[in-house]
Amino acid sequence: MKNSSKADLTLGIDIGGTNTVFGIVDDNGDILAKGNIPTTGHPGFTEYIDNLYEAVSIKLRDAGIPYERLAAIGVGAPCINTRTGVIEGAVDLPWESPIPLTDRLTAVFGLPAAGENDANAAALGEMYYGAARGMDNYIMLTLGTGVGSAIICDGRLLRGKRGLAGELGHAIIRHDQQARPCSCGRKGCLETYTSARGVVETAKRLISDTDTPSILRNFDEINAKDIGEAAKNGDPLALATFRITGDILGEACANFTTFSSPEAFIFFGGVAHSFPFFEEAMRRSFNRHLLWVYDGQVSFMRSSLPEADAAILGAAATGRAVAM
Ligand SMILES: [Zn+2]
Repeated sequence: MKNSSKADLTLGIDIGGTNTVFGIVDDNGDILAKGNIPTTGHPGFTEYIDNLYEAVSIKLRDAGIPYERLAAIGVGAPCINTRTGVIEGAVDLPWESPIPLTDRLTAVFGLPAAGENDANAAALGEMYYGAARGMDNYIMLTLGTGVGSAIICDGRLLRGKRGLAGELGHAIIRHDQQARPCSCGRKGCLETYTSARGVVETAKRLISDTDTPSILRNFDEINAKDIGEAAKNGDPLALATFRITGDILGEACANFTTFSSPEAFIFFGGVAHSFPFFEEAMRRSFNRHLLWVYDGQVSFMRSSLPEADAAILGAAATGRAVAM
């Protein structure tokens, strides 16, 4: 029997531009209580943290969980320097940078706190609670609005000099004249092909450059979800879109494999919902481009974390990493 006064739980907090969600998480990844507060609308950052403390305290009380059971805080936030816990230059947050996030959390909650950006937090979430349990080498690719990534090598998250290691979404994978312009100011980045926006761009080009029949031709505006839905219904153009996406992903993953020799690539994010539609093309392209010494060593899988709770679990895993 566990002693209920033992500090065995982690508070996971995910700070988004609009909403902040939090959860009290146990070692198995079960969320015992969760809540949220708006990120905006507080007089300042100090009041925001005070209000967050209040909201967490109420949730704990309502769930009958003694505060003493909290061991640490993990927080997922954009543009956070993982070494200092300071947010630097996050344009989507309502406070002026630099924001001393983990120091403030520790001061108010009286607990050790650690922060990671979303992609790294997601990778730690997989390590502690998800598909990567027991795995020491994997690369997580988040295919969302952009492409985020995190590299786990020899059981450790690679951070690099300023905590920016693993920006694989901005690895340049196309150099030709038609290489797509990227939000980073360069051309041909992986993100421009395999993010939600990239997939939409591919579909739009197929619509204008080919005669492939498609329900999507009737849409005024299309998004990645529409293309996924169309693929489910066997739409030829949607399926072709994901074949192209898989082709590019497979080539990129073959390149990434030479760098850290992962045993798996784990896919997360909106576009990963369409995994079954790009998986085959991805594997084929991967095998075609892979250096032979890695043959048969790498698998591809989807994240196993429940999507609605993944941000909280990733944040909690970040806190668990610091508590241990
Ligand atoms: Zn880029």
